[in-house]
Amino acid sequence: MKKIFLFLLAIYPSEKLFCWGFYMHEQINYHAVFLLPPEMMILFKPNIEFLRAHAVDPDKRRYIVASEGAHHFIDIDHYGKYPFPELPRNWRDAVKKFSGDSLNAYGIVPWWIQIMQQRLTKAFREKDRTKILRLAAEIGHYIADAHVPLHASSNHNGQLTNQQGIHGFWESRIPELFAEKEWDFFIGRAEYISQPGDFIWHRILESAAASDTVLRYEKEISRLFTEDRRFAFEEKNGTMIRQYSAEYATAYNKKLNNMVERRMRQSIYAVASFWFTCWVDAGQPDLKNLVNQNFNQDELKEFEILDTAWKNGNQKENICK
Ligand SMILES: [Zn+2]
Repeated sequence: MKKIFLFLLAIYPSEKLFCWGFYMHEQINYHAVFLLPPEMMILFKPNIEFLRAHAVDPDKRRYIVASEGAHHFIDIDHYGKYPFPELPRNWRDAVKKFSGDSLNAYGIVPWWIQIMQQRLTKAFREKDRTKILRLAAEIGHYIADAHVPLHASSNHNGQLTNQQGIHGFWESRIPELFAEKEWDFFIGRAEYISQPGDFIWHRILESAAASDTVLRYEKEISRLFTEDRRFAFEEKNGTMIRQYSAEYATAYNKKLNNMVERRMRQSIYAVASFWFTCWVDAGQPDLKNLVNQNFNQDELKEFEILDTAWKNGNQKENICK
């Protein structure tokens, strides 16, 4: 296993980076735990730090596995106009029409979430603690990505409209400025999702519809700010970096009418509801006996390899932190 990881590390592939900021993925998984019923909380709450920390594993994996990138987005505008009737929602039909290679090239997040859902359901059924926690952490990542408007647009970083940087602006800078101080994460309870495929396609269509607004509004407010007011140097982890100014971010967030907060709250609800749905579909297994188990040495080593790959790759290119 280690060899494969190291080999793949050598063919670090990523030019497109897609993610809520690491901070937000962690927050989404963390807050989702509190929506669960007590029967699930018994395992998830003591492992909340694991679920938080490993929310970003899929993004780290993109540095070592070339095919990973396609799991995080869908350039749905490639398939025509909203609501994209040309694109079959069913995977087999979509493959028949466009081929698997082509679908992968334009991103497959809505289908990938359903694969992860099946895997997590199986892990619950088998009461496999390691798989439950890993898959729960990772499906949380993909579900959250599906809620980000620019993950459902080919203009994913404003590169087609001279708005480079907007991806990180929307999903990292704004949450980092406002989430802790101003946003409300009291959301209620996880609910059973009877049609997970439909559910996730709805979220994708919402994201696609919102992506126009995300781009248009930034363009509009950019006209009201000179460049030196749009950007500011701020210290981050000991270094000075140039980023969107707090003033500009405040104006954009207001113009978006708190869209980022809304999308984040919906992500938390969806993540918890998918976790809950998998557990119910697995027959609501008793998780009590799994609480005191731990990860073995091989599993811990795998996490370490992933982390090292990300750290090495991250120094080359990063828009998601
Ligand atoms: Zn991602």
